[in-house]
Amino acid sequence: MKIAVFPGSFDPFTIGHHNIVKKGLKIFDKIIIGIGNNSNKHGLFSVEERKKMIEQVYQFDNNVEVNIFEDMTGDFCKRVGANFILRGVRNSNDFEYENNIAQINKQLFPKILTTIVFSDPEYSALSSSVVREIIKYNKDIRNFVPTLLADYYYDNIKK
Ligand code: ADP
Repeated sequence: MKIAVFPGSFDPFTIGHHNIVKKGLKIFDKIIIGIGNNSNKHGLFSVEERKKMIEQVYQFDNNVEVNIFEDMTGDFCKRVGANFILRGVRNSNDFEYENNIAQINKQLFPKILTTIVFSDPEYSALSSSVVREIIKYNKDIRNFVPTLLADYYYDNIKK
């Protein structure tokens, strides 16, 4: 069974991230979305809120799981039995960044293979920070996040 960890901040998870998961499922049997709990980086949403929101999206998919992790991505992969890291690339900036992390991870965790999936063009301008900006100015996030996530957000988080 091929298991990949898709690590990130996901503050919040967007349709761009969802696009990467859907493509990843063509390669892997199971994807574990890992929300990195970085204590130095205070997000808009708590990691628990992010987890609940993402869980709504995949409530009917038993090949996608959502977890929070505090340690290094490679150690998290080992713990959950994943031999692959899945990351998304939108443009050349992402490429440079992802290439660097992949090389460091390769040195630290030689058995774990980083795989890159390219974003479809319609998602390549989208980021979590764009969604946070839309929230800040009280605009509708529905076109930028998965529908089930938006439903949960408007029913349970935005008051
Ligand atoms: P991080 O803080 O680790 O970069 P993010 O939540 O911003 O976490 O992103 C997680 C992964 O998803 C990264 O590999 C990032 O490049 C990718 N990603 C983010 N937005 C998109 C998008 N719109 N299309 C494709 N990949 C994306």
